[in-house]
Amino acid sequence: MKNLGYYNGRVGLIEEISVPMTDRAFYFGDGVYDAVMCRNNIPYLLFEHVNRLYQNCHLLGITPPKTKEELSHLIKELVKLVDGEEKFVYFHVSRGSGIREHTFTEGKGNLCITIKPQKVDNVFEKMDLAVTNDYRYSYCNIKTLNLLPSVLSAQLAKDNRCEETVFVRDGYITECSHSNISILKNGELITAPADKHILPGVTRAHLIEEARKHNIPVREEKYTLDDLYSADEIIVTSSSKMARGVKTICRKPVGGKDEERLRILRDSIYNSYLASTKAHERRE
Ligand code: PLP
Repeated sequence: MKNLGYYNGRVGLIEEISVPMTDRAFYFGDGVYDAVMCRNNIPYLLFEHVNRLYQNCHLLGITPPKTKEELSHLIKELVKLVDGEEKFVYFHVSRGSGIREHTFTEGKGNLCITIKPQKVDNVFEKMDLAVTNDYRYSYCNIKTLNLLPSVLSAQLAKDNRCEETVFVRDGYITECSHSNISILKNGELITAPADKHILPGVTRAHLIEEARKHNIPVREEKYTLDDLYSADEIIVTSSSKMARGVKTICRKPVGGKDEERLRILRDSIYNSYLASTKAHERRE
């Protein structure tokens, strides 16, 4: 298949699967989602992403319709149906179904999955970033379907011929519209703390792990826009970007002062993806 849509047991092309108007995702964005890269039909770091989805369901009182094991198994089976070497797997659970009313519906959530061919970014290409105020609410640690600020800031990036937009909240950098951001300064990796103002990215956790492995001290601390501009390097992380350097912010050149550590971190994350998803090898 060229792509795949799944909704509560129904499978077809994304363009052909319909979702009932009673689904609470439709009115309220009342649900949570996650996404993984997949190569050679091996979803990368699936365990971590499925775990995060279930934690988010728990935080919002949503009852997933399947166990973690059932969902992981289903994803591993569905990816085989889609053409291509590299794919992007998106999955969400909405709270459930009912006539529109703000208070919770009873029962289990609805499961929606989409799978489409997609390559990871070219990790060797540095990015251009835009900047905006972080006008999101204060549960950014939950990967909710409510993505309006993310949509608006992603469009801001596009309108400015950039790839991502950095959020600044009360003078401090939080993250980007759909990725985390960290800096290298004086040989240390500095990244915003995993509080309610950022999504605790799976790739961010991997970046921290790789930094420690390579004797790069890590500080999970707040840092400012000035710190970003004066950083030795800036690293943007997400499942589809892996770890990428940055060349400009609002068209001003940045980074380029610690290429060695940037290369170590970028390559170890990308190589770990390639190694874990080598054909005929299963990591989990
Ligand atoms: N921050 C936000 C707001 C995101 O939407 C994402 C990914 O979608 C990330 C960070 C990166 O998370 P991960 O590395 O788990 O893909």
